[in-house]
Amino acid sequence: MSSDHIYLDNNATTAIAAEVFEAMRPFLTAEYANPSSVYPFAGPAAAAVRRGREQLAALLGADPEEIIFTSCGSESDNAALRSAVATQGRRRILTTAVEHPAILNTCRSLVEYAGVHVDYLSVDRFGRIDLDEARALITDDTAIVSVMFANNEIGNIYPVAELARLAHAKGALFHTDAVQAIGKIPIDLHGTLADVDFLSLSGHKFHAPKGIGALFRRKFTPFAPYLTGGHQEHGQRAGTENVASIAAMGKAAELAAAHVDEENTRVKALRDRLQKGIVETCPDAIVNGDPDHRLPNTLNVCFKYIEGESILLRLWDLAKICASSGSACTTGSLEPSHVLRALGLDFQALHGSVRFSLSRYNTDADIDTALAVMPGIIRNLRDLSPFGRDN
Ligand code: PLP
Repeated sequence: MSSDHIYLDNNATTAIAAEVFEAMRPFLTAEYANPSSVYPFAGPAAAAVRRGREQLAALLGADPEEIIFTSCGSESDNAALRSAVATQGRRRILTTAVEHPAILNTCRSLVEYAGVHVDYLSVDRFGRIDLDEARALITDDTAIVSVMFANNEIGNIYPVAELARLAHAKGALFHTDAVQAIGKIPIDLHGTLADVDFLSLSGHKFHAPKGIGALFRRKFTPFAPYLTGGHQEHGQRAGTENVASIAAMGKAAELAAAHVDEENTRVKALRDRLQKGIVETCPDAIVNGDPDHRLPNTLNVCFKYIEGESILLRLWDLAKICASSGSACTTGSLEPSHVLRALGLDFQALHGSVRFSLSRYNTDADIDTALAVMPGIIRNLRDLSPFGRDN
């Protein structure tokens, strides 16, 4: 994918694959029918929805009937948690301190408006959770346990199969936000993940467009629809299907299955080379996350004594590199991310984090460029920093 910039921010969103764009094109032009219509003109649209469902189910090791199309990962997360609270007759949710806001703010909303109590699993310095703590916190009143498959900021992969078994042992449902895992970790919902009740995903994280997602809901798991209205998705999610984006996500799922090995070999090697190069050439660089169980594409590094935002600006100015920092610029103040705070990092490290996240479209040349500019950027910003090591 040629372009005038180097895109190392694939956990934020991904480029639409050319094949994916071609798969959606007919449904944005000639084949515009509503898939629920009965005349033959609607046949291709209905077939595209069917095929998209089959392609996604195949990627997940699920049955097509277990796939509910949604508008995004956030909607899927909302649907799973709110359904569990509505159907289980239990008043507690167990989740972690490092979930995406789609989970954390949904939990807060359920505390405020549905009177539930939320327990949070803590994490250690490497972002790891403790299964014994989970065992102790799942009670007979836990409606659902929700733990992400992989973390968007530090890339940690969590032991969802074990957690799902623990949840079921106490009669609780289990949900996982797999938005960052798709295409990077093989997923088998009828195999190793047989205890997972709900799984959320989002098309724009694996080379499909924004605004399309899905919720896996295991057959017979109780479900109260989040969006009510028409009969679409067998009454589980109202709203005329986004046919073009469903066709796109189906194609993206097929490509993800074909490229998952490449993610764990070539892409991982690029990430490892970037990590090694940065650690060797930039003093006081600390790699965040679990060294042993991390997404193959993600590298989160803290550069003590400097602001992550300043590094991002220089990366763009010097080499047109796109990356992310661990601070969210909200209402003008730079708040360190809740994930990095949960790791217990000190102030100097919290503010100086950068996340590089790769995809199969990255090349050796991208990493060469990043490694060529990083040492100078760090040296230069440290020289200017009021927190500099020598000050
Ligand atoms: N969950 C995780 C782990 C994510 O990384 C994201 C997006 O960044 C979401 C949920 C939300 O997905 P969407 O943007 O499709 O609502």
